Amino acid sequence: MVDLPRYVELYESGELQRRVLALEERLGNCDVCPRRCGANRLEGEIGLCNAGKLVAVSSVCAHRGEEPALSGTKGSGAVFFGNCNLRCVYCQNYQISQDPAGQRHHEVTPSRLANRMLHVQNDLRCHNLNLVSPTQYVPQIMRALLEAIPHGFRLPIVYNTNAYEELSTLQELDGVIDIYLPDLKYSSNTIAMQLSDVAHYVPTARSAIKEMYRQVGDLQVGEDGIALKGLIIRHLILPNDLAGSEESLKWIARELSPQVTVSIMSQYIPRHKALGMPPLARSINAAEHRRVVNILDVLGMENGWMQEAGSQEFYLPDFTADGHPFERG
Ligand code: SF4
Repeated sequence: MVDLPRYVELYESGELQRRVLALEERLGNCDVCPRRCGANRLEGEIGLCNAGKLVAVSSVCAHRGEEPALSGTKGSGAVFFGNCNLRCVYCQNYQISQDPAGQRHHEVTPSRLANRMLHVQNDLRCHNLNLVSPTQYVPQIMRALLEAIPHGFRLPIVYNTNAYEELSTLQELDGVIDIYLPDLKYSSNTIAMQLSDVAHYVPTARSAIKEMYRQVGDLQVGEDGIALKGLIIRHLILPNDLAGSEESLKWIARELSPQVTVSIMSQYIPRHKALGMPPLARSINAAEHRRVVNILDVLGMENGWMQEAGSQEFYLPDFTADGHPFERG
């Protein structure tokens, strides 16, 4: 017999509804993310993340380019949310993360989002639901889940985030999220401010990742190799070591465990504002790639994936065309 997702228990006990109501109330003086900007999103104000009352769903697709344990043979059911609480100058998804006017056309109600979640399960038949940049919409996503469960929604849920997360919000996701997929982007607050316009990124992201690990632990996969539960930490190598790769990987090994699953991404390519910023205006080179491989070796970190150097084009999305952002005809 297949185990039911833990969120079904929360639904049946009434706990999920309690959490939805508590989260929705917070939209009236928004503190859903660490920006805590206080926008009254219930009355139509827009927050620093550019999100309002409705949820911007920019694209829904079977994503075949995620980590093998997520994409498997059927794809990971990616729901790309519009807007973002960071302002990364090199964002690969800038077409949807940094275009608030364009995202207004993608706004839907939580009921409509619930339908899209069921579409991922019943029509696309993906292995999981992959919430991409969900942070600013946690209350609406939880409402959608509450509506989708009685219609049979049962997929494992992946929370795919930049890790700039509010602890009290993450705690409401305990038992709801099966797989956390945070990106640990920097090990310097100064660089985080320069490149992503965010204060205190490093301690905030590290605390968030510790909470995620507490909730779901190490990655568990089924007999088919598909992820069931656990933490996968992504780290995007930036040129000129702007991501502080060694310090971040050492932190993971020391404060969590060398057994933690990591996904090292070498796909960086200058986009958005990075094209005009010399330290960021090139891809990473073979020496930078090799250096990170060596750090993993020294730390004894063996679980996870490392993208090959030169794999940039495969991972480059285009959200301006109709259809699948990663599969162009
Ligand atoms: S989620 Fe958006 S509106 Fe809410 S605190 Fe963060 S930036 Fe402000």
